[in-house]
Amino acid sequence: MRFSAEQQQFAAAVAAFCDKRCGTLAQRDAVTDGGRLSNSPQLLAELARLGWLGVSFPQAYGGAGAGFVDECLFLEEAFRGLAPITGYATGLTAAQTYLRWGTEEQKRTIVASLCGGGLEAIALSEPGAGSDLGGVRLKAVRDGDAFVLDGQKTWTSAAHVATHILLLARTDSAGTKHQGLTLFMMPADVAGLEIRPIETMEAHTVNDLYLTGVRLPADSVVGQVGNGWKQLMRGLNVERLIIAAMSLGAARRSLDDLLAYVRQREQFGRTIGSFQAVRHRIADLATEIAYCKAFVYDVADRIDAGEEDAIDREGAMAKLKCTEVAKHTALEAMQLMGGYGYAREYGMEGQVRRALAPPIYGGANEIQREIIGKSLGL
Ligand SMILES: Cc1cc2nc3c(=O)[nH]c(=O)nc-3n(C[C@H](O)[C@H](O)[C@H](O)COP(=O)(O)OP(=O)(O)OC[C@H]3O[C@@H](n4cnc5c(N)ncnc54)[C@H](O)[C@@H]3O)c2cc1C
Repeated sequence: MRFSAEQQQFAAAVAAFCDKRCGTLAQRDAVTDGGRLSNSPQLLAELARLGWLGVSFPQAYGGAGAGFVDECLFLEEAFRGLAPITGYATGLTAAQTYLRWGTEEQKRTIVASLCGGGLEAIALSEPGAGSDLGGVRLKAVRDGDAFVLDGQKTWTSAAHVATHILLLARTDSAGTKHQGLTLFMMPADVAGLEIRPIETMEAHTVNDLYLTGVRLPADSVVGQVGNGWKQLMRGLNVERLIIAAMSLGAARRSLDDLLAYVRQREQFGRTIGSFQAVRHRIADLATEIAYCKAFVYDVADRIDAGEEDAIDREGAMAKLKCTEVAKHTALEAMQLMGGYGYAREYGMEGQVRRALAPPIYGGANEIQREIIGKSLGL
């Protein structure tokens, strides 16, 4: 698609910001405690001051009133620029759900938090409920003017640094497994909640949550009691697009760093990029990324045009393709950079680590293939 002059300037400004503030490994280490944090509160605050967080949210709630094309431009350039703000993408998904279903107060609170550089978490997954989310068992039992919650959540991104957690709980065990599920807005510092980090191959990003007698006032329900599943399903295309745009940015970064490397690295008396075997592999990566870019903005444009509920197949395709391309590009780049691709100093090992999780979360890519396959009548 063609971007307006303002959109091009916006993308260029985000790219320039990233170059200036987190362009080098030393700069990124400085704002992430040596790579141990996946979110930099400092950079989030700076981005908030620039008015770039939550650009797609209505002005009435503190956003910029722009659309998803603009939001994707921000995500693409921020992840191309290696800005350590992965939790922002989760917050964006959470805030979209509140915006669609929440009370006025919930909307104001969450969008203000997101646009102000705060982080918001989403707790859907449980030890026994991953791809099959209908298996959620964490219980919320009505008690007077409150709900009492008991159970465990797992894999909750950014819960340890979030202000609130959007949580899916079972309020009724009768009916089918997708009935009786309810969404709650839970303060991350509520009594009875224990948040424990999960050790992974990345910086600290995900957590186990243990809820013991957590008491939430009845007005913490987001949307309607028992309607949680349907509410979540309505927002999936936006979530998939957010992950696709982040992955597009990450893929571009891997390609750009690879190009810079193969242009200067010489072996056998010539640059390695001049070997046809290398050049053709890079040409394939560039082609895949160009297609991803066109597709992401087509989906974003359709969401902005109000077609969100008619693009389940395309939303799934965007998430599937962009996350696979980002992973493939990072792995190819590591191989083509030889030993240097494996060294932390050159950055590609980080690109590989970060590219491995997106094909798993946000609905694993096998599930996206199921959605696409079923949409083809299979
Ligand atoms: C880094 C990271 C961040 C995350 N953040 C969050 C978060 O913020 N909030 C949250 O709620 N969750 C989060 N998750 C959890 C994530 O959504 C789940 O890991 C994902 O849904 C898969 O569930 P699972 O891990 O239980 O795997 P399973 O569902 O057990 O699946 C295991 C494998 O089997 C495959 N599989 C399962 N069912 C089918 C099927 N029907 N057909 C074909 N293949 C199938 C899967 O694709 C996968 O490859 C995160 C996970 C990671 C790794």
